[in-house]
Amino acid sequence: MTATVQTIGVIGGGQLGRMFALDAKRMGYDVITLDPQERSPTGQVADEQIVAAYDEIVAIEELGRRSDVVTYEFENVAIASVEHLERLGHRVAPSSSVLRVTQDRLLEKRFVRACGIPTADFESVENFEDLARAAETIGFPAVLKTVRGGYDGKGQWSVATLAQAEAAVTQAGGVPLIFERRVDFSCELSVVATRGADDDVVTYPVCENTHDRGILASTIAPARVSAGIAERAQTMAATIGRRLGIVGTYCVEFFLAESDRLLVNEIAPRPHNSGHYTIDVTPCSQYEQHVRAICELPLSPPRMLSNAIMMNVLGDGSGDRLAGIPALLSDPSVVLHLYGKKHAVARRKMGHFTMLVDGAIDDRAIAKARAALAQLSWTTE
Ligand code: AMP
Repeated sequence: MTATVQTIGVIGGGQLGRMFALDAKRMGYDVITLDPQERSPTGQVADEQIVAAYDEIVAIEELGRRSDVVTYEFENVAIASVEHLERLGHRVAPSSSVLRVTQDRLLEKRFVRACGIPTADFESVENFEDLARAAETIGFPAVLKTVRGGYDGKGQWSVATLAQAEAAVTQAGGVPLIFERRVDFSCELSVVATRGADDDVVTYPVCENTHDRGILASTIAPARVSAGIAERAQTMAATIGRRLGIVGTYCVEFFLAESDRLLVNEIAPRPHNSGHYTIDVTPCSQYEQHVRAICELPLSPPRMLSNAIMMNVLGDGSGDRLAGIPALLSDPSVVLHLYGKKHAVARRKMGHFTMLVDGAIDDRAIAKARAALAQLSWTTE
């Protein structure tokens, strides 16, 4: 298999595909991406882009025919497209069986619990009767989420009363929901890991994440938690990858709750925003590990050459030109990544930077990273 992979197909043309393609190109592979938007962030750096919808079967077939292995860079890729490629005998990694679980919050949470790993308490809600029952057994405050299709805080309602929950169910318009206990967490953690087809699993250090209205704002690597918590999180992530049979890089997100309990919130079957820092401070990034896994090459045990803070650069709708880059780059510890997106729509992920940190990450380092981000602004000029 290894010797025969020359071309990698990527469904989806966003920033994750772009950073994946950059590593794959460095390693000598050809990359073809499929995305409906011309000159997508991935398309700008890939050898070629097929401009088509993710579920356009003729285009998907072309991608399969021209690739030795196909992967995807967002988890809400049309499952029918992946299954179709598999039926035609093309290799897709991770497989559709992984997507089936991770695209459905109910299946995902049941799967995690079946692995013996805790999650927040949850109930399935399809109507007002289910809602009344869930409110009774789980209580408030709670979070209602669409079972399918939500990302970056979309399709989510924070609710404190039954009346608010009913309004959310009405707003959701009849789609299946999950009612989740709101976790009073001390911090949010994630583990980026990669599993190879030979069942080898490597895990990056556990990271500490802050979110703003459901969107990742910053990542601290490694997290400021005890060695015991870090090890438990890494073991849970490895168990999940093995039991799912995933081939490739994936991420498991956790809440650290009272009494140091780790609750799994979500599994992303792809490289993850909280693993961007690996490009700048590890010899083998999460993207290269993904290339290695899907091309059946040996994985590389992660090694941190520096600690890091990653700050996301989001659009705010006030203009498409990023001002303040010279000031940001006057700090030699900063590595800037921009994704080549034309329009800095409000809350759109436009880029990120990694700040390399010598020694332990403390409040001063975090304040410095925040101040660095504050130097950037969007303008129309
Ligand atoms: P998700 O789409 O499930 O990853 O949720 C996005 C973010 O919303 C999480 O990273 C948390 O910051 C917050 N969130 C989601 N579910 C819960 C929960 N059950 N309790 C507390 N915060 C939550």
